[in-house]
Amino acid sequence: MISNKKALEMIDVIADMFPNAECELVHDNAFELTIAVLLSAQTTDISVNKLTKNLFQKYKTPEDYLKVDISDLENDLRTIGLYRNKAKNIKKLCQSLIDQFDGKIPETHKELESLAGVGRKTANVVMSVAFGEPSLAVDTHVERVSKRLGICRWKDNVRQVEDKICTVVPRERWNKTHHQLIFFGRYHCLARSPKCDVCPLFEDCREGQKRYKASLKEA
Ligand code: SF4
Repeated sequence: MISNKKALEMIDVIADMFPNAECELVHDNAFELTIAVLLSAQTTDISVNKLTKNLFQKYKTPEDYLKVDISDLENDLRTIGLYRNKAKNIKKLCQSLIDQFDGKIPETHKELESLAGVGRKTANVVMSVAFGEPSLAVDTHVERVSKRLGICRWKDNVRQVEDKICTVVPRERWNKTHHQLIFFGRYHCLARSPKCDVCPLFEDCREGQKRYKASLKEA
């Protein structure tokens, strides 16, 4: 693993590449954001945005989701993966909001994680994006990028990745860094075809160097 100083230098380069990175899930409030993040599991933000364009017109409150049959809600979600499970979790989540939180999205990690379908990653996104609380959610892009660069070890789990990045990056930058690492993974260091040939981190990147040496052998 590289030093914390080197890791921060790399993250600074990424920050310069994507200074305006932000949440790409379209939403108007904390409730819509929570639903959108829940829907985004194993699905692209683009697919979720296509779906929520109509969904958020039809369902505006937790009560709206509880009024319809589960089969109708499943039908509304069927363009995205795991839609049956997601429909079930949305129903449960909405019931909990009404029963325990006055119909509103709670503002603590613990309460958020008590909701159906909401794990640490979703809670971190909601705390960060909806409530401005410093949090760093680790999604597939953040995990892949931080491991490729050697900021984290390949064997680290998502919680270890989160802890490591939060150690390296000053707390006031956590929210922005989360989006910048996602953008870097989504638009530059892609899972299948990272743009190593034009990457400013190539010289210091263990994955980039490995891929380069492998390409020389193949040539
Ligand atoms: Fe990703 Fe390649 Fe850049 Fe490394 S060199 S960060 S693998 S794009």
